[in-house]
Amino acid sequence: MGANQRLRQRTVWLLIIVLVVGFGAVISRLAYLQLVAGEDLQQKAVEQQLSDTTIRAKRGTIYDRNGQILAQSASVWQVVLSPANFKTDEQREFVATELAEILKLDKAEVLEQTKQDSYYVVVKRKVESEEQKKILELMNQIEEKYEIASVIALLDDYKRYYPYGELAASVIGFTGSDDQGLSGVENEYDEYLTGTPGRLITATNANGTAMPFDYSQNVEAVDGNSLVLTLDETIQSIVERHMKQGIEDYDVYNRGVGIAMDVNTGEILAMATVDGYDPNDPFTINKDDRKKIKEIDKEYLYENGYLKENENPTNKELEELLATARSEAESAALSKMWRNKAISDTYYPGSVFKMVSLSMALEEGTVTADTAFTCSGVFELYDKKIGCHLSSGHGTQNYTQALCNSCNPAFIQIGQSVGEEKFWEYYQSFGFSEKTGIDLPGESDDIFFTEDGSMGPVDLAVASFGQNFSITPIQMITAASAIANGGDLVQPHVVKQILGTDGSVVQNISTDTKRQVISEEVAKEMRNILEQNAIGGTGKNGYVAGYRIAGKTGTSEKLSDSNGDNVQDYIASYCGFAPADNPEIALLVFFDTPLSGNYYGSAVAAPVFANIMGEVLPYLEVDAQYTEEEAANVDTTTGTYTGLSVSEASKLVNADGFEVTIKGEGTKVVSQVPAAGSNIPTGGTVVLYTDENSVTEKVTVPNLVGYSLYDVNYLASYYGINISITGAVNSSDSLSTAQSIAEGTQVSAGTVVTVTFSSSSVND
Ligand SMILES: [Zn+2]
Repeated sequence: MGANQRLRQRTVWLLIIVLVVGFGAVISRLAYLQLVAGEDLQQKAVEQQLSDTTIRAKRGTIYDRNGQILAQSASVWQVVLSPANFKTDEQREFVATELAEILKLDKAEVLEQTKQDSYYVVVKRKVESEEQKKILELMNQIEEKYEIASVIALLDDYKRYYPYGELAASVIGFTGSDDQGLSGVENEYDEYLTGTPGRLITATNANGTAMPFDYSQNVEAVDGNSLVLTLDETIQSIVERHMKQGIEDYDVYNRGVGIAMDVNTGEILAMATVDGYDPNDPFTINKDDRKKIKEIDKEYLYENGYLKENENPTNKELEELLATARSEAESAALSKMWRNKAISDTYYPGSVFKMVSLSMALEEGTVTADTAFTCSGVFELYDKKIGCHLSSGHGTQNYTQALCNSCNPAFIQIGQSVGEEKFWEYYQSFGFSEKTGIDLPGESDDIFFTEDGSMGPVDLAVASFGQNFSITPIQMITAASAIANGGDLVQPHVVKQILGTDGSVVQNISTDTKRQVISEEVAKEMRNILEQNAIGGTGKNGYVAGYRIAGKTGTSEKLSDSNGDNVQDYIASYCGFAPADNPEIALLVFFDTPLSGNYYGSAVAAPVFANIMGEVLPYLEVDAQYTEEEAANVDTTTGTYTGLSVSEASKLVNADGFEVTIKGEGTKVVSQVPAAGSNIPTGGTVVLYTDENSVTEKVTVPNLVGYSLYDVNYLASYYGINISITGAVNSSDSLSTAQSIAEGTQVSAGTVVTVTFSSSSVND
């Protein structure tokens, strides 16, 4: 067989591939192809030409709001065999051995494939460039070694990459082996992302009797649209980092949720379900669940209803049941892992809902500044006794005090003033009876007492403090955003723009305001009350020094014990916004089943809320405004001292309001800690290093947990580090509860450690 003939045969082979599967790059090279192969091949080509001839499009890219790539399709290859072209077993043996080696496949299986009577057998998909190069070499080898038509082909394929791994996985979602969106935005916007497949139009017969065909006409595939999300990768990272820390610190059994939302536009800036999964590898179950599945045994079968108490299965039956149980457990573990709890889980909102109940009463005018609410520690309603978290009672309170105390008996009275009918009207108006309509798959409905909103007096009493009806976290933060923005219920959304293949904007997704639910005045009053709550009420552990925070804690009982230890499970949450006088961002933090002992929203969720806000607000360039008490601890920004002479730098450090420590023997500053632009308290220490040797000097971070602010300041200066503080710093009974860098860590002198303060006097 001459070289020309081999080339023609290979072209024929490629044509068949195109007929069978159809790939754009291959097709464009095949225009005006003359088919002049042997009759046998021609016959096969004709037989197969009616097969699928779709050409795959490249899937669109997903960006965050600042253009960071969150999901992208990269070119990879598909390795295909044409075993019908083999002439001898020796050839099959050689190719199977080499292919199995390069592609890390089982040789026996590849050898089986080389024996099939076919021109198209997929050996491996999504092959990356390193392997692709080796395959190309192998193809050359085969051509030199054997006088046969091409037996291997490399076809274009695409693979989806998620450069940030776990980040925002529950929102972005992932794709399946055929590039179809299976969850999250990948699924919701699949039709945009997928693009338009190309098509091979018609094979026309050139001379009317036999070959050749003329394939001049084909429709090129059109790449998919790209998406710009409303998510901000930086805010998302901050939220996830602190949520992870919270899950570890409070031994959270059933994961947590963090949502950050622009209160005016409904744009979701961050949405996290933590722990999540890696969308690059979405079918790998996490280690803990894998272990549990592996441990499924006979006892498990009895405990979980696979076997009845007195059933005695044969060994074969037992094996089958175990396999079924394991596979069901695997499916359950996967769907749990992929679940976007922020929109798919429902929970009792608990005391966070008091911001809604009070809004109703203020809007209806059923309570005024003069209305007094009394709490004796317990409220009796018919034969029911409903307790307050402060069993000694809160005494007489106005509505602001009632919210700051998070007093259940007071809120029962507030709920009663509104009445069942109005309560249900506002419940609907605030958007709790319908899905928010967020552009993500899997949003759940609420569960109210009855479908038509009718309820008894006891139902109303417990509803007024957020118990016994279930809503989703996304519904709660949407309602809180309405209070924050002056009364408008806006639709939350995660996609900001749809882009064309050339990057032009095809569609802007604008703010969708559904309705005004409360007046500007009531919203303003609520912001004021919630700010007072964050400064000195039960919400004070969510406070961030220098920022005007408004917020509310919540601790709610769960319907059942998911932990399986027959102990009541709780959800600890905190929902708030900032700045209180002109809110931009709302944040909801939610931990499902903290097992560390303390399960209150004030103890578990509030500090995490404070830590997130403490980083997000400076990032959003919200101006800090300090109270007088905070002035002593006010954070100041460090300047650039590196490159200056020691004396010049020292003067500048002092002028900026910091103490100075010089390390080393040099005359010029070679580096500084903290770095330029860091926020540390006025009076903190800036360490200037004057030679390379001094830079390597380290100090050890001490334990900073369990102390008063005064003691922490003392420890910081003793150990040569700086601290930045978040949480309840205005409260005299506050103690430090967490530190951002672990005790014992070696750091450069002057490093900033963030210390969280909490008051343990609030249990709400
Ligand atoms: Zn009370």
